[in-house]
Amino acid sequence: MKKHNFYAGPSILSEYTIQNTADAIINFADTGLSVLEVSHRSKEFQAVIDEATALVKEILSIPDGFSVLWLGSGASMQFCMIPYNFLARKASYLDTGTWASNAIKEARLFGDVDVVASSKDAGYTYIPRDYVVPADSDYFHYTSNNTIYGTEIRRDPDVPCPLIADMSSDIFSRHIDWSKYIAVYAGSQKNLAPAGVTLVIVRDDALGKVNRAIPTMLDYRTHIKKGSMFNTPPVLPIFSALQTLRYYKQLGGIDELERRDLEKAAMLYRAIDDSEMFEGTVTDPADRSIMNVTFVMVQKYKELEAKFVEFCSARGIVGIKGHRSVGGFRASLYNALPLDSVRVLVEAMHDFEATHLQ
Ligand SMILES: *Cc1c(COP(=O)(O)O)cnc(C)c1O
Repeated sequence: MKKHNFYAGPSILSEYTIQNTADAIINFADTGLSVLEVSHRSKEFQAVIDEATALVKEILSIPDGFSVLWLGSGASMQFCMIPYNFLARKASYLDTGTWASNAIKEARLFGDVDVVASSKDAGYTYIPRDYVVPADSDYFHYTSNNTIYGTEIRRDPDVPCPLIADMSSDIFSRHIDWSKYIAVYAGSQKNLAPAGVTLVIVRDDALGKVNRAIPTMLDYRTHIKKGSMFNTPPVLPIFSALQTLRYYKQLGGIDELERRDLEKAAMLYRAIDDSEMFEGTVTDPADRSIMNVTFVMVQKYKELEAKFVEFCSARGIVGIKGHRSVGGFRASLYNALPLDSVRVLVEAMHDFEATHLQ
């Protein structure tokens, strides 16, 4: 049976990415060797990382003066590397969820942290507005897409200091105004590649402004200088990322990716809003994520939630169980998810409702 993969991360990758990765595991670039067993310093792999870096710059329209890095250890390591490298005195953070608050916790080890607003008291069901970011902040850090709670900030905030964003779960779904940013980072396992590599884009002239000593591996300048090859980079995830980037370019880049993402999200939110059985968990529709759609059953039907997950799984729909801290359902609609999978989910909602509505 065809599977419809709504997992939140690791998550669906394009067939193009999977097939080319599988092929290269057997025979990489006609070397007669697997991509798993070649030197990261071979000319064949150097070509992979060079092309991947160039495609990231091209697809995201990154101007000169920024470096694109491929680092190990996940987006969570950036929660510490960002303040290590950029927090000289004080930084501002927006608390919109678990990942944001994890980033705040790490930043506090390095200096003053001003949490300008938080939606924690309301279970992170909305994005705070009307907060004030002090102009003397070294940077303002925000999480553009809150993977667990289904909220998203799709416009680069206007604040009187440079921006840094964790875009782990919505990178490559919109354009970025680089003039506002000194860093953007994203773990690979949502919109790019298998888990294991983190894409970090840093503005070169924003580095070197902190007084502290930075351990070699945690200093962005080490990785800039060595082209992400100071140590062995995650070779396989970088290879897969290149395939995804080629696929994104072929499709038509960010404009087309965003158009598709908006279409998929609109279809699912319409089904939720039209339903008497399901309801969204994000309070203001303006804050709804187009990547992770969170919803529950209304109180009257609450006890049917587990049954709906089973009902879906019989139709090949996997990964829609909500995060344990939110409950209900979460359908992740990452770039690689076809519109058809959303159609199948919406149909399942209709059919389930037709059978169980009282
Ligand atoms: C998944 C996720 C993370 C954590 O990524 P790891 O690679 O597991 O460290 C951080 N931030 C956001 C927004 C995420 O979605």
